[in-house]
Amino acid sequence: MHLRCAFDNLLCVQLTKYTDLALRAVMRLAVTDGGALLTTREVADAMRVPYTHTAKAIAHLQHLGVVESRRGRGGGLALTDRGRSARVGELIRELEGDREAVACEGTNPCPLAGGCRLRHAFREAQLAFYASLDRFTVDDLVASPTGPVLLSLTGPHHP
Ligand code: SF4
Repeated sequence: MHLRCAFDNLLCVQLTKYTDLALRAVMRLAVTDGGALLTTREVADAMRVPYTHTAKAIAHLQHLGVVESRRGRGGGLALTDRGRSARVGELIRELEGDREAVACEGTNPCPLAGGCRLRHAFREAQLAFYASLDRFTVDDLVASPTGPVLLSLTGPHHP
């Protein structure tokens, strides 16, 4: 999450595209059509995102224990129980890393970084943002009408 400092004259809350892509993959995997499992390619095509980016996000989600790969006939990707019940704010924190919303330090640190009330206010806002999203589980996100829409998404056919 990036929350630009007021010094930049602009305040915004924005998730990285990577996190949004991963959340889209999670939502697509949270709905199944008669138990059929999807491949990474099918998830990428359905969500209209590049395969390589999707594969990277899926690998990360597997590492977090949110997605598992089932082998064999009818195998594919599936959401784990943990993934299904995951709180959205918690999932975003894990995907983004719970870093500070404002880049106060780093190679060109802000001179106020050692004692800034604005920095503290941003941190509180960031925690409130996550807490608000923690009211929802992944299962909540795919309730109607989102679930049926997700099931209707198909991508281009590959030979
Ligand atoms: S220390 Fe304060 S003023 Fe400086 S970048 Fe961080 S939030 Fe902005």
